[in-house]
Amino acid sequence: MVLDKEQAEQIRKQLLAQIAKLPKEQQGDLKEQIEEATPAELEEFIKQSQGQGQGGKCIFCEIIAGKIDSIKVYEDNDIVALMEIMPASKGHILVIPRQHFQFIQEIPDKILQKLLYFVKVTTPILTQILDAKAISIYIPQGVLAGQRIQHFVINLIPRYESDGLAFDWEHKKTETKDLEAIAEKIRKATQGEVRKGIVEEQEKYEKQKKVAIESEADKMVKRKGKRMP
Ligand SMILES: [Zn+2]
Repeated sequence: MVLDKEQAEQIRKQLLAQIAKLPKEQQGDLKEQIEEATPAELEEFIKQSQGQGQGGKCIFCEIIAGKIDSIKVYEDNDIVALMEIMPASKGHILVIPRQHFQFIQEIPDKILQKLLYFVKVTTPILTQILDAKAISIYIPQGVLAGQRIQHFVINLIPRYESDGLAFDWEHKKTETKDLEAIAEKIRKATQGEVRKGIVEEQEKYEKQKKVAIESEADKMVKRKGKRMP
């Protein structure tokens, strides 16, 4: 994608507005750089600020393209699983979609199912072969959550006695009414979408089941017919 003049100006304006909000010491010469940037440079700047690595490239995409070496444990048309080169613990695996998505909601269901299925099958195997005591499944979503590379990733982190990893947090005391208020907001916002998805899935499943039963019944009738002419 190359930005046209109008898009470039729009983006330049947005970036300048964002920079103006930064503390003075962080602004540096960013303002001048943005003011003088060509459309191509602006595009590059956006890619970089979205965390797509050096030169606007995503490290995971580079690995998938074979431009960076990696040690793979599984791959197919949609997903790849590889060893984390700087593991949190022994056997730390990264499970990623081939296509570049940052957030879970961007991933087509078929690919997401594959990612989760891989996790489902692999988790108990990892525990067994590595003699791990547990597994932490970690999916950072957004920079603040620790998503340094903006390519969706499921971390499978085997856990061992006193491995020193902390996935814990302070459990804060909260009023029931505050929980209720938030729950109500979430229910209202998600209900339609979630129910729609679940109903569709259920219908699909029932239909498949019906077809399977019918074809089984069909076969039985045919077999019977052969045996008793
Ligand atoms: Zn990527």
